[in-house]
Amino acid sequence: ILVLDNLGGSLKKSIRNIVGKGRISEKDVKELNKEIQRALLKSDVDVRMVKALTDRIKKRALDEKPPKGASAREHIINIVYDELVNIVGKGTEIPVEEQDIMLVGLQGSGKTTTAAKLAYYFKNKGLKTGVICADTHRPGAYSQLKKLCGEVNCLFYGEQESEDAVSVVKNGLKELNKTEVRIVDTAGRHSLESDLITEMEEIEETVGADRTYLVIDASIGKGVKKQANAFNDAIGIDGVIITKLDGTAKGGGALTAVSETDTKIAFIGSGEKYEEFEEFDPDSFISRLLG
Ligand code: GDP
Repeated sequence: ILVLDNLGGSLKKSIRNIVGKGRISEKDVKELNKEIQRALLKSDVDVRMVKALTDRIKKRALDEKPPKGASAREHIINIVYDELVNIVGKGTEIPVEEQDIMLVGLQGSGKTTTAAKLAYYFKNKGLKTGVICADTHRPGAYSQLKKLCGEVNCLFYGEQESEDAVSVVKNGLKELNKTEVRIVDTAGRHSLESDLITEMEEIEETVGADRTYLVIDASIGKGVKKQANAFNDAIGIDGVIITKLDGTAKGGGALTAVSETDTKIAFIGSGEKYEEFEEFDPDSFISRLLG
């Protein structure tokens, strides 16, 4: 498994140290787990998730017999990889079909940028795509999104003077009824104020979104659990998009949102440009978390 073979530093060293044919020794598992914990905590993965993960690794490493012909090292690498994929999730199938998508998240998380990125993504798949600006709170949201849509060359609907996001969405859906993918960018929330939650619920009812993605900044810390649950309770989250993975943050905090909402990571944003966006790939995410 390449991900773990390509690691650097002390984690690799502790994997290298595992020798022999039979079962791995308890001392070696402990040593390895310590390195895994260190790496994951540094990447902001929740401490309880890390503990549960390394407990499972330890149990399996000591209980399970290596398959015939496999060395102790190969065996433990398989277990570690397997358990890591378990917490980060496999990639999700992104359907290339007619759909309404809603983006929610805190202000500054990268929703507006992501709306344009998604539009570009689906446009490249050959679908006629339009974006609706339902952010009537942040001055500048309208022109920012309009400009981005111009660059991506997709349809855009917004009402610069309107303060009624629900009515903008209604009009936008009507206006864009010839498109196949409609992406609704909602107002960023500073925190989860109740009036904004109500507005979000009304927008969700109007859109009847096929998919609602929670957009999360890779550097998100402790607040993630509360946030993810609040969004999920209000409108139901179908997947997570992690932004700004080009920065120093490793995005481990987003795993808490994934586990709290019982969803998966759908896309990764890795830059300000609309093409800096890709479907989630567990292998590269894992090597980043451990690296
Ligand atoms: P919104 O308030 O959630 O709509 O956030 P914006 O889309 O306006 O993004 C906030 C800032 O983050 C902007 O300066 C974006 O250019 C920047 N941004 C968004 N996504 C990324 C990303 O993946 N990488 C980097 N480096 N910057 C990003």
